Amino acid sequence: MRAAAFLIVLLACPPAAAAQEGSAAGEWLDQALPGLVETYTALHRSPELSFQERETAAALARILTELGFEVETGIGGHGLAGLLRNGVGPTVLVRTDMDALPIVEATGLPYASQVRARNEGGEETGVMHACGHDVHMTVWLGTATFLARHRDLWHGTLLFVAQPAEERGAGARMMLADGLYERTARPDAALALHVTEQLPAGTVGWRAGYALANVDSVDLVVRGRGGHGSAPHTTHDPIALAARIVIGLQHIVSREVKPIEDAVITVGSIHGGTKHNIIPDRVEMLLTVRSYRPEVREQVLAAIARTARYEALAAGFPEELAPEVRVREEEHTPAAYNDPALTKRVVTALRRELGAERVREVEPSMGGEDFGRYAPAAGCPGFLFWLGTTPPERLAAAARDGEPVPGLHTARFAPDPGPTIRGGVAAMTAAVLDLMGTGAGPKKKS
Ligand code: ZN
Ligand code: ZN
Repeated sequence: MRAAAFLIVLLACPPAAAAQEGSAAGEWLDQALPGLVETYTALHRSPELSFQERETAAALARILTELGFEVETGIGGHGLAGLLRNGVGPTVLVRTDMDALPIVEATGLPYASQVRARNEGGEETGVMHACGHDVHMTVWLGTATFLARHRDLWHGTLLFVAQPAEERGAGARMMLADGLYERTARPDAALALHVTEQLPAGTVGWRAGYALANVDSVDLVVRGRGGHGSAPHTTHDPIALAARIVIGLQHIVSREVKPIEDAVITVGSIHGGTKHNIIPDRVEMLLTVRSYRPEVREQVLAAIARTARYEALAAGFPEELAPEVRVREEEHTPAAYNDPALTKRVVTALRRELGAERVREVEPSMGGEDFGRYAPAAGCPGFLFWLGTTPPERLAAAARDGEPVPGLHTARFAPDPGPTIRGGVAAMTAAVLDLMGTGAGPKKKS
């Protein structure tokens, strides 16, 4: 319903850049930015849900092909990768994600998404790029375009990866399992960025070491024996037990995990029962569990199973009614670890490119990102940095009045496209050139 116009705008963008030979990324961006912003709005209007990124992937593949990349499509579903070989030198992976979220957009912007789609359950939903993956794709395309047109500035092999289903924690795993590196090249470093509304548009945030968390989904079923609400002594009440378990779980974080380690257990869903005066047979709970170090992850997951089991025994439940605890291993997202040496090197380059005031050290996040899979799978260092999206005056107003800026995964998330994309392309280009540069330097004329 939307493919044709979408593709035309995208394809019109990169050649319009009219870069001068050897110009700095900054000068090039003066020319290229209007086309990139058009690309962004086209992508924003045309979001696709996780596992449904067919049109988006096709558009990205066509642009990379036009730029001279060797493009491999259909890697782990709709994933694709482009290789651009340019002499002897390191192979650097630059990742974007492509999927959007089942949210009805409420920004009121002229380019707001009107798209509706069906999720896997067959239900109709609005679709919105509410996690900024449209910004990621635009920055990725801008970086690819600049580098393809300025091959005198770098040596080596670019590996541009566009992954599906980031929001489901699945795309990176699927691409790697489908032979991403065997079908393209094994990287010597892996880079990505992710937007955040908490930084000014075009400003970059970084963190060495753990930047994003291990994410685990746990299903916990509390089994009981139902009966009349007036006669609890004749039942094993799973609702009363579920309440004990919820409280018990919080003691894992506060009393068992070492205080300087990080862990979160959130019970995000709890369902049981039908009526005031009926004690039900079961309660179902859905948990999200976050951690950084693998040992802490193992500790917390084991403690959840133990807590559920012994709370049931303590409540007098028989062994055969022990709660069922299932960790959804297939939905696990490993923590994103920013290699300290790579981080230091790239941050130095980012400061040179953007100025120290636009490159800020930030706190780690307990959010998840499956970018964390690429570097360990290659045995190379990885680095993911943050890209701010909010006009500085809006952030100042938020600090003054307490009116929060609409965040990621909300219907009113609205990046300021021009400065965000400009800062993103300048930053990612500077990062790649620092790792692959010929010494001609991004700022020098050749
Ligand atoms: Zn997201
Ligand atoms: Zn995201």
